[in-house]
Amino acid sequence: MICFSSIYLKSMEFTTAEPFLHKGLLQSFELTKYILKTNVYPREPSPLKELREVTAKHPGNFMSTTPDSGQLMGMLLKLINAKKTIEIGVYTGYSLLLTALSIPHDAMGIELIRNIKLPTDSSMIIAIDPNKETYEIGLPIIQKAGVEHKINFIESQALPVLDKLLQNKDNEGSFDFAFVDADKENYLNYHERLLKLVKVGGLIVFDNTLWGGTVAQPEEAVSEDRKESRRSIIEFNNSVSIDQRIEIALTPSGDGLTICRRIR
Ligand code: SAM
Ligand code: CA
Repeated sequence: MICFSSIYLKSMEFTTAEPFLHKGLLQSFELTKYILKTNVYPREPSPLKELREVTAKHPGNFMSTTPDSGQLMGMLLKLINAKKTIEIGVYTGYSLLLTALSIPHDAMGIELIRNIKLPTDSSMIIAIDPNKETYEIGLPIIQKAGVEHKINFIESQALPVLDKLLQNKDNEGSFDFAFVDADKENYLNYHERLLKLVKVGGLIVFDNTLWGGTVAQPEEAVSEDRKESRRSIIEFNNSVSIDQRIEIALTPSGDGLTICRRIR
């Protein structure tokens, strides 16, 4: 049973494991901390906490999915009883591990993915990232949590993998859930392919769709290194807002999380 007493909350100190706090779109560190302290950290599974703390020591730590977004994703995965999922952009694996912990435990073995013909009745995650080194930072924690058998990590750019999956008609409409957290320039390309792979009623969730709040700022106010991705995110947001194949909810969790539900 989780204890929400004030003594318990006071004992939770914020240390180095919150490199993502600057992303908070609530524009208030205090409010973001309040949400984490009262509702997120007390319920964060211990393997995720360990992975977050290990990731905090890595120079790319700001890329990790924020724990509040993770909590929301875990809830979505359970609400739709997701079994088969796709993850684009793994980094050290925070969102991957939370997905593995949230789907049922009857996963298939890793070897079954190799011919890209997927059985439809077992839990599994296809996780794609060209950077295996960062995945290997989190891998020991994933193994210790006993969920590695649910993960098929593919070291690759995502588009060729999605295209290969689509070459097999059996894969169409066979996934329950997809999480996209990679190169923003390809969000619309991922969206088109995932709409074929995810079933009607399934979810495709895109991270960073408010891009640090820059989507609502004039371009000249945005730093050069953020401009190209900002343009891609704005184009993506405009496109999904009129896409009749999906229902959407853009939530101000973390850096913005757009939840798309396929309806046709
Ligand atoms: N979801 C991760 C987490 O919770 O820690 C964070 C992902 S991080 C923001 C983005 C990742 O996308 C990086 O690990 C990067 O290597 C990967 N990436 C970049 N371009 C990619 C591509 N074309 N296909 C797949 N992954 C890509
Ligand atoms: Ca992200």
